[in-house]
Amino acid sequence: MDHRLRRARLASRLVELGADGFLLTRLPNVRYMTGFTGSNGQVLVTPDGAAFFTDGRYTQQARHEVLDLESVTYLDGFLQPMVDAARRLEVVRLGFESEGVTFRTYEELRAAAKGIELVPVTGEVERQRWVKDPEELEALERAQGATDEAFAAVVGRLRDGVTERELAFELEAEMRRAGAEGPAFDTIVAFGEDAAEPHHEPAGRTLSRGDVVKMDFGGLVDGYHADMTRTVAFGEPPAQLRDVHDLVRSAQQAGIDAVRMGATGAEVDGAARDVIEGAGLGEHFTHGLGHGVGLEIHEGPRLRRGGDDVLPAGAVVTVEPGVYLPGVGGVRIEDMVLVMEDGRRALPRAPKDLAPA
Ligand code: ZN
Ligand code: ZN
Repeated sequence: MDHRLRRARLASRLVELGADGFLLTRLPNVRYMTGFTGSNGQVLVTPDGAAFFTDGRYTQQARHEVLDLESVTYLDGFLQPMVDAARRLEVVRLGFESEGVTFRTYEELRAAAKGIELVPVTGEVERQRWVKDPEELEALERAQGATDEAFAAVVGRLRDGVTERELAFELEAEMRRAGAEGPAFDTIVAFGEDAAEPHHEPAGRTLSRGDVVKMDFGGLVDGYHADMTRTVAFGEPPAQLRDVHDLVRSAQQAGIDAVRMGATGAEVDGAARDVIEGAGLGEHFTHGLGHGVGLEIHEGPRLRRGGDDVLPAGAVVTVEPGVYLPGVGGVRIEDMVLVMEDGRRALPRAPKDLAPA
């Protein structure tokens, strides 16, 4: 990954942001700009150079991961060494991430950086991260590959009496076996009527014939998150859920077909939502259609009603319509989809049929 190029891209935006230096404190953004994978690090980016800050636990790790960059290890917090570096780099207007500092850190920063104007900035690096470069796409493909493998393994093992929690554990174990560092987020497994909850937490509910099984899960590879949902039947599900599955599958295909460079989040959301509303079930599709995915499980661009994010080529978004019927069950189908200059490509290979092969 060319972190130097990313920092140069950010530095070229500073004039427009009204700053001549930018302090990054949100870890996914620090990782994006430096390659650092630890749990505590900050980076100062200016047109004339950058400096990375971390604590003593990560001195060695930073030496391997953070290249072409001055690296400062601190004992008592990043503020003073960061302000020293900012003064050395002649920063007079310091951008900071309005969503990346606590109120307390802001107050301390203001006290430490006397004479330097602080400029709040929102979503700048996040916006840059919408467009994935080839290495990022490869990591997402590998994360998806582990996710597909886990699905194939676990769906063949559905059995009477298994609990949601056990199945979630099996999915996570299979993703690790297939090369993932771990799950990208807390795995969702919901049986039968539990599937009516969009984000059900797996519990002791046991599987029996006639249940649907909704699984929302994904692997993590090199910091990149996969995100996929499949809903399958164990035995013969209620006829109503069979129809709902057909409907959600059609809506999901309409959503995927609407993914194209230049489309707004609202347009793509609407394409899928229209199908569900047309069947009179609009009130049971209770969330947005999808979200960008990458170094974070939920990032931009967002696909939702009223959303004005415009899809660029190279973005990866989920398309995940669902219909949730309290007391009965629910269906969601979710794929990660790459926006291309001339169309789109869904990343998963896992089948979407209600009846697993
Ligand atoms: Zn998901
Ligand atoms: Zn998702």
